[in-house]
Amino acid sequence: MLVAGPCAVETYGQTMEMGYKVSRVRDAVAPLGIDVMFRGGAWKPRTKCYDGYGGKVFEGRGPEGLGWLSEVAEAYGMPIVTECMESEDLRHFRERLEEGRDIIQVGARNSTNYKLLGAVGTTHFGVLLKNPQHGVDPEEAAGCFQRLGENPLRIYCVRGQKRFIHPDGRPDAEFADYTSGLYFANGQHPYARNLNNIGSIRRLRDSACFNGGGVLIGYDPSHVFGGRDDKMRRMIGEQAVRAVVNMDYDLIEIEVNDRSAEAMCDADQALLTTTRDVDWSETNAGQGPGVRPGAGREPNPAPITLVDIASRLVDYRAALMDLGPGDPAVAQAKRGLDEISWDMKP
Ligand code: PEP
Ligand code: MN
Repeated sequence: MLVAGPCAVETYGQTMEMGYKVSRVRDAVAPLGIDVMFRGGAWKPRTKCYDGYGGKVFEGRGPEGLGWLSEVAEAYGMPIVTECMESEDLRHFRERLEEGRDIIQVGARNSTNYKLLGAVGTTHFGVLLKNPQHGVDPEEAAGCFQRLGENPLRIYCVRGQKRFIHPDGRPDAEFADYTSGLYFANGQHPYARNLNNIGSIRRLRDSACFNGGGVLIGYDPSHVFGGRDDKMRRMIGEQAVRAVVNMDYDLIEIEVNDRSAEAMCDADQALLTTTRDVDWSETNAGQGPGVRPGAGREPNPAPITLVDIASRLVDYRAALMDLGPGDPAVAQAKRGLDEISWDMKP
């Protein structure tokens, strides 16, 4: 299962454009039975609500954004995943989205908010619960799912965790070796936004709740790494594939935005849907692959896109189903992905 879309729904045009693009990927991979859902936040919990110059930081479009998401769901028959931060807002979700089809995300900052979970449990929306900022504790997570009710689809999504924060604000000597070791270990990055806790799935699978208990386990590499440069964005793509192919995750959630240069929220970490017909100036990749960003610096690597990730999921699913490349469903999916290309300025 694949959940993809921009961090936030910022305008009507952006929502419809990205909804269309994600739906094209959904159509391409459908022959292999891979489900695709569209994500985008109408409410965005930001770390800071003021920008330091007296201005308010963008925190989402609220009910209007939900309306745009419902248009995408209707236009493309594609389920929506979107965050609810407050139980009082649930009435907007009930009015604009569809219970049984759409999924409410409960984010890292709210994931142990029992009042909110209990309120979401009174609805029939699916639930995607992120791990809290402090990390994955399988018992705590199981307790969060106990707060829900009859919610049809239940997903626990691993999304990175805070590193150690010393009370004095400096790295604790005791942990310095450990954390620097982690930085360069497989699946880590020195400037990543969070610690990559992708390995948490092993402990989650030991818990009844996540092993046959009806809760799927997802992985969100976008909020693990945070973007910032092309190498880090490549890690988002690599780790997304690794989560499914090597680590048995049931689902991945990825932020994509083909106009990340103008995005107000999580612009750095957005992947492209495809590199075909990309206007690089509209993306966070700036000058595009092959260009040397400075004297002596390595040329920019080619980005890993949503289409690339989907293509790897097709290969993996085909192998699981014992289907060769000549199988009609596999060939159709690959052709569908190969055909995806759009002029970035419609
Ligand atoms: C998001 O998915 O955009 C988000 C804010 O996630 P998290 O709660 O994991 O930070
Ligand atoms: Mn985000």
